[in-house]
Amino acid sequence: MSLRKLKLIKKKLHYSKGLRFSCKHDCDKCCRGEPGVILISEDDIENISTYLNISQYDFINNYSRLITDFFSINFGYIKKAYSIKETNSGSCIFLKDKKCFIYQVRPLQCRAYPFWSSIIKTEKNWEDEKKFCPGINQGKLYSFEEIHKILKEFSSQNFTTDKSE
Ligand code: SF4
Ligand code: SF4
Repeated sequence: MSLRKLKLIKKKLHYSKGLRFSCKHDCDKCCRGEPGVILISEDDIENISTYLNISQYDFINNYSRLITDFFSINFGYIKKAYSIKETNSGSCIFLKDKKCFIYQVRPLQCRAYPFWSSIIKTEKNWEDEKKFCPGINQGKLYSFEEIHKILKEFSSQNFTTDKSE
C-alpha cells in the first residue's frame, strides 16, 4: 500500500492516533478456560519447534491438534490448520504457573492480540473487548503505524495445511 493511500485511510480510522494496550502481569485469561483455537502458522511451527529443540514433526504430534472445516472470524473458512493443544481444563498446553512457557516465540495470534482485524475493525469492537481484557486502553501507546504493521503481519500468515483444497 502506498504511503499516500495509507495516510488517506488513516484519517478515517478510529485508531488514527494510536491505541493503548499492555498485558497485565497477573492475568492469564487469554491462555486458559474454554478450549479455543490458537492457530499456528508455518513460521510459528518453525520458531516454536526450534525453541523447544524438537523436530517440527514432534511439535505437531505432541503440542498441536488438527482442526478442519473451521470458520475464523479473522481469516474466513479454513479447511485444515493446526492449533495449539489444550490441557483437560481447557488451558493452553504452554501455560505454566500463569506464565507462557514459550513466551519469546509464542504464536503470532498471541503476539498480535488485541490488534486482530476483528477487534480493531470498529471502535465499538475495541471498546467491547475491554470487558474481556483488562489491558486494553492501558499502558503502552501503539501508534497507527505500529498497529498497521501488526495487522499486516497477522493477516498474511500461512497456515501449515493449505486453505485451498
Ligand atoms: S486478557 Fe488481556 S491482560 Fe489478560 S492475558 Fe490476555 S492480553 Fe493480557
Ligand atoms: S502460547 Fe503462550 S501466550 Fe499463547 S495461549 Fe499459549 S500460553 Fe498463552
